[in-house]
This record gives sequence, structure tokens and C-alpha cells, in this order.
Amino acid sequence: MRVLLIAHTHIERDIPGYVSHAVASTEPWVFETHADELVEQGGRLCYLSWNRPNPATATNKGYVANIIEKGHFSVLEHASATFYIDGVTRNFTHELIRHRHLSFSEVSQRYVDAGAFEFVEHPGLAPVSDPVRYWMQEAVENAFDAYGTLVDDLNEQGYLRKEARQAARHVLPGGTETKILVTGNLRAWRDVLRKRLELDANGEPLADLEFYQVAREILIELKRIAPNAFQDFEVPA
Ligand SMILES: Cc1cc2nc3c(=O)[nH]c(=O)nc-3n(C[C@H](O)[C@H](O)[C@H](O)COP(=O)(O)OP(=O)(O)OC[C@H]3O[C@@H](n4cnc5c(N)ncnc54)[C@H](O)[C@@H]3O)c2cc1C
Repeated sequence: MRVLLIAHTHIERDIPGYVSHAVASTEPWVFETHADELVEQGGRLCYLSWNRPNPATATNKGYVANIIEKGHFSVLEHASATFYIDGVTRNFTHELIRHRHLSFSEVSQRYVDAGAFEFVEHPGLAPVSDPVRYWMQEAVENAFDAYGTLVDDLNEQGYLRKEARQAARHVLPGGTETKILVTGNLRAWRDVLRKRLELDANGEPLADLEFYQVAREILIELKRIAPNAFQDFEVPA
């Protein structure tokens, strides 16, 4: 599994005719990241409050903490992050795309030869004993063989590659590898991570383990580009 942060919010400086709060203020401003800065910019614009008399909200961390506490979440929507994720399964992306505020581009199993993809083992299969593991691998190989045979058969009968692949893919395992590009604003990511990193009473993930592991990687990156917008999130061990 690979979770790569490939794009995130960048603030343009020195735009003619535009004065940001950082410039408008006479006091120095300190921002660690553009994403967190943009969140504060959105919040302060609402009230044209560029002065910072209250020490609790005078820092970006304090200001964003107050935004989160008050539930003024819309200002978190200005900053966004895009991840390229591969080495994950179709089962995982089936769950990921349920999150309606994220945006997706995923490899097509209709236009791309899925026979070239790997089988990605679910983390929960790690303890499977050797004889059973052998049997599982054989079952997976049989499924991929069946896919190839079905595509060839339909191609020989004159069906287009797209027509053959869209039908044949039905025999592929849910653990077939996929690649996906996913973009979300910070509010949307916060919502997804709350749901997919939640633990049960025994401290076990409530979400599917593969999703939980991806969510953990995403959180690590988001805390890097927006530490204050994710200050109330702990990266699980
Ligand atoms: C542990 C776990 C187990 C799950 N098990 C299953 C399962 O067995 N079967 C299954 O089908 N799904 C399951 N899901 C998926 C779950 O039902 C949701 O589809 C998924 O978590 C996306 O969350 P969401 O629908 O709350 O919001 P998102 O689509 O991520 O949207 C975020 C928020 O926006 C608001 N929102 C979005 N769209 C609307 C709307 N149309 N109307 C009103 N408010 C809206 C809601 O407040 C929502 O919480 C599971 C999820 C988890 C975390």
C-alpha cells in the first residue's frame, strides 16, 4: 500500500490589489503552513477581525482550535489535499468512494487489462496458516486465469476489448489491486478520518483494517501540511 500526498493548498503572495490579513495587520503573523493560514484567513474575513486582542486565539493554533470548537467548519473547506493511492484493493476503494465530499479518479477495469494487476492481501490474512495460504493463492490464480480466458474468448468472438473486460472482471477477486487519485478539503478529510479511525471499546478499529491503515497514512500527511486543522487528531500507534 502506498499513500502519497501529491498536491495541497498553496497561497499566492503579492497579488496586485489583494491584501491578506497577514499583510493588513501591523503585528507579525506566524504561520507554519499555507493550509492552516488559509483556514484562519477565511475565519477572520467573516468578521474583518485582523486584530488579535485575545491571547487564546492570537496564534494560528489557538485560532483554529476555536474554529473547531465552535463548529465553524466551513472555513476548513478552503484548503485541500490530493493523494495518489496504489497497492490497495477494489474492496477498499468501494468503501472510500462512499464519502461523498471527496473527489475521485480510479483505474477503469473496463478500459484497462485487469490481468496485469496484482492480488493485494488483506492485512487480516497475515496469520493464515501455510496450507490454507497455498489454497488461497491457488484460488486467486484461478480467478485471474478465468478472467484472461474469458477476455480472450469474447475477443475471439468479435467483442471489443472494453466489452470483454467489463464482463470478464466479474470473476476477479475483491482483493484485486487498484490505483486511485482522491482529493478532499480539510473538513471532508476530518470527517472521513473520524469515521475510519474510530476504535471500539476494546481499542480495535471499527473500520475495515485496510481502510484504517490508509486513513492512518493520510492523517500523518495531513498533520504535516495542516497541523493545526488536525490538532485534535492523534496518529494511532
Ligand atoms: C465502521 C463502518 C462500517 C460501515 N458499514 C457499512 C455497511 O455495512 N454497509 C454500508 O452500506 N455502508 C457501511 N459503511 C459506510 C457508511 O454507511 C457511510 O456510507 C460512509 O461511512 C460515508 O459516511 P457518510 O454517509 O456519513 O458521509 P459522507 O458521504 O462522507 O458525507 C459526510 C457527511 O455529510 C453529510 N451528508 C452527506 N451526504 C448527505 C445527504 N445526502 N444528506 C444529508 N447529509 C449528507 C452527513 O453529515 C455525512 O456524515 C460503514 C462505515 C463505517 C465507518
